[in-house]
Formats: sequence, structure tokens, C-alpha cells
Amino acid sequence: MRWPPPFRKIARGLGFRLTAGYIIFFTILLILIGVMFRRMLVGIQEDQFQEVIEGDWTALKQYLQVTNGKVTWTYDPKNPREAFTLERLKRVFLLTDEEGHVLEASAAYRVIGPDPPAEIREALKQRRPVWTIRYDPWGLVYLVRSGMFLESGDRRYYAAVGRSVGLNQALIREFTWQYFISLPVIVLIGGVLGWFLTKRAMRPLQDLVRTSESITGSNLSLRIPLRGAGDELDQLIDTFNRMIRRLESSFQHMRQFTTDVSHELRTPITTVRGQLEVALMTGKREEDLREAIQTALEETERLSNLVKAMLALSQAESGQTTLRKKRLNLSTPAQEILEQFQIPAEEAGVRLVTDLPPGCEVEVDPVQFDRLVSNLVSNAVSYTPAGGEVRLALKPLPGSVKLIVEDTGRGISAEHLPHIFERFYRVPGMDNISGHGMGLGLSFVAWIVKAHGGTIDVTSSVPGGSRFVVTLPRVAAQTDGMA
Ligand code: ADP
Repeated sequence: MRWPPPFRKIARGLGFRLTAGYIIFFTILLILIGVMFRRMLVGIQEDQFQEVIEGDWTALKQYLQVTNGKVTWTYDPKNPREAFTLERLKRVFLLTDEEGHVLEASAAYRVIGPDPPAEIREALKQRRPVWTIRYDPWGLVYLVRSGMFLESGDRRYYAAVGRSVGLNQALIREFTWQYFISLPVIVLIGGVLGWFLTKRAMRPLQDLVRTSESITGSNLSLRIPLRGAGDELDQLIDTFNRMIRRLESSFQHMRQFTTDVSHELRTPITTVRGQLEVALMTGKREEDLREAIQTALEETERLSNLVKAMLALSQAESGQTTLRKKRLNLSTPAQEILEQFQIPAEEAGVRLVTDLPPGCEVEVDPVQFDRLVSNLVSNAVSYTPAGGEVRLALKPLPGSVKLIVEDTGRGISAEHLPHIFERFYRVPGMDNISGHGMGLGLSFVAWIVKAHGGTIDVTSSVPGGSRFVVTLPRVAAQTDGMA
């Protein structure tokens, strides 16, 4: 059968499934309890009943005498208690000789019995009491105790006493009936209560769903208030809020990136365009045209480098660059990197000095470490006038290694110092320095340091020089893929 859509929606809900599970469990539990309780009741009643009949048997032995097949009841007819007991005993009673000839039997016993001679012989041989359940034609049930009653000389007698268990059965039937009739009502009440409680417990979840549905790129500042219960739901809300916060920061990044990119690309594109237009309109001679195309080409080369650098940085910052860390003695790669700057430094008239002691083992990504040192040294060489000095040093400490890049260059003034790690930030007046000017190098440096769980500090004086100190922990924290 296919449910109509609204029912299907409810049936698929967690609340419904929880309640249904709870009702099923509750029903099974109640049925089991009922069955167990009924069994216990039946057991207790049977034990009690057997005890009563055992009492009847003892009384029978007291009041009944058989001599040479002659049956005599000895009791005081004036004693109402004895008369009553006897009357009770004789209701369901049988006495036979060992061949099964009935010596005396009550009317009720004639209806439910009499016992077959073979059984009687067997019971006499066994000498143990035999308990049987008998039914009369009207469906009444009797519990009967039979066995050897008396042995006098070579003669043995067999007797049986019993009682109708109808009343007890009715009691158990009544209990069963009452219990199983009230069971659906209990389950129904339990179900409604369960449904209500589940709904209440799920309300924060629904709030969560509603809030997440209303979240778009423009309202990422939305947060779900914590309920203060400190339970799993609060944990979920907290995780959700943190996820939104991360999303918000990523969005912010993206927006900033788009703004920066469009801003940075506008100028070179305008320059290229302007130059080509001027050349097209005014360039008569081939050399003029060549010169214009040459400048435009250089500008596009710069543009292409800028786009490449921006993409690399954006990938790094958005967590798409995975670090492949290795345990390295930093002195070796630092020396190799510095050698690459030997020629440019000589050309710029800058002296390179190193202090690279052994024992600088750190877990780093070699490619990113290369980029980190290259950027710092490249800046230092570029921003140091001829005759100056650039010093690259490593300092091993117990839990970390310090990497120091120091120069005797122009320095960075205090007002610009806090911004130099920002994307595209350049200290005004330094644009003319060849090979530099994108303002992305230090942003990269900052990301690499952060991705290795390190820190970077700068001190600088104008004039005098700058000092960049990077501290890298020996065992890198797990910061890969961070945004
Ligand atoms: P750029 O490509 O402009 O060098 P960076 O991000 O590497 O970009 O540096 C940002 C700015 O910080 C530079 O434009 C420069 O003005 C300043 N700067 C960086 N390193 C030094 C240094 N060693 N000495 C003086 N100024 C520096």
C-alpha cells in the first residue's frame, strides 16, 4: 500500500521512527512481562493447590479405615469442622483395591474417572504419589492426587483425592484478559507520551534545519543560539556554527580575492591597451610599433606572472595545497637557496653572509621551505642598496629552530610594518625596484609559516635595515589544508 505524501513525510521523520521503535519495544516488553507474570501466577497457584490436596490426603488417612475390604469413616458427626472436612473430602474421591475394583467413589469422581486397573497397579508398584489433570464432560478441570493409600497384610488399597481448579483458572483467565485488554491502552498512552517527548527533544534540530535552509551567501553571519544544555544537540549546534564561521571566512576570502584581482589586473590591462591604441593611431615607423609591442609583451608577461602567483596563493590559502613534510636539517637547503642568490647579489653589490650551524632538524615541506627562504632573501637583496649586507642565519633551540633573514637595507617604517603581510601590499615608493612590486611574496611567507605551525616576527628601522625571524617548531603541528 502506498501512503499519501503527507503520511509518507511523517513516516520518514526521525520522530516517527523513534516513537515507532519505542512503541514496538514497549509492546514486546509488556507482552513478555505479562506472559512471565502469568506463568508465575500459575506456578504459585499450582504449588498452593498441591499443598491443599496433600492436606486432603493426610485427612483421608486420618478418617478412612479399610479392613478386609470394608470401608469405615471414623469421625465425630457432632463436630462441624470434621463433618465439613469429610464432606469436602468425599466430593472428589476414589478408593479401590489393588485390582481396581471400586470400593467407594464420589459422584464427581465417577464422572472424571475411574482409573484404569493397569494404572492403579502401576501406581501401587511405584508407591509414589501421582498427580493428574482431569476434565469432566462440562469442561471443568480437576487436579487429582492418587497413589497407594494403605497396605494391610498382603492387601493394598489405592485412593485418589482431587479438587476442581475452576476458580483458580478463572482467576488467571481474568488476569490475562484484564492485562491484555489494558495493554493497547498503556501502549497508546506510552506512544503519545513518547511522540510528544521526541517532538520536544527534536525541536532544536528543526531550528537547525530551518536556519540552515535560510542561510545563503549573503547572510553567513547567522548563528544558532546554544541552548546551554551541553548535550549532543548543543555539540551539533556548536559544530554547525563553527562550520558557518569557516564558510563565512572562506566567502570573505573569496570576495577579497576577487576585489584584489580585479583591482590589480585593471592597471596593467589599461596600460597594455593604452599603449597598443597609441601605437595604432600614431605609430608610423616600424621601430615605434615594435617598441610598443615590446612594452605590451613585457606588461603581459608581468600580468601572467601575477595571475600565476595569485592562483598559487589562493590555492594555498583555501587549503588546496597539501604539505609534504619531511624531517630535514635546514642548514643544507638554506645554503643551496642562498647560492642561487649569489649572482644577483653580486650584481646588486650586496654581500651575502651566512651562519648555518648543524642540528637544525625540523619537519618541513622542502618545496615550501625553499619558497619561504627565497622570498625573504629575494626581498632583502632587492631592498638593500649596493654596499649593504644580507645575512641568513639558523639558530637551533630545544623545541624549535629560528631562521633569521637580516639586511642593512632601507627598512620598513612603523606605519607600513603591520601591513606588509597583506596581499598586494607594497610600501609606497618602492615600486621601481626591479623584479618586485606584486606584493604577494610576504603573503606566501605568512601562509607557509602558519601551515608549519610557526610564527614570524619583523623588526625594522629606516634607514638601518630589517630583520625577519621565523620560528619553526621541530615537530610540525597538523595544519595541512587549512583555509
Ligand atoms: P613585493 O613583491 O613587493 O616584494 P612582498 O609581499 O614580498 O611583495 O613585500 C611587501 C612589501 O614589503 C614590499 O613591497 C616592500 O615594500 C616591503 N618589504 C618586504 N621585505 C622588505 C625588506 N627586506 N626591506 C624593506 N622592505 C621590505
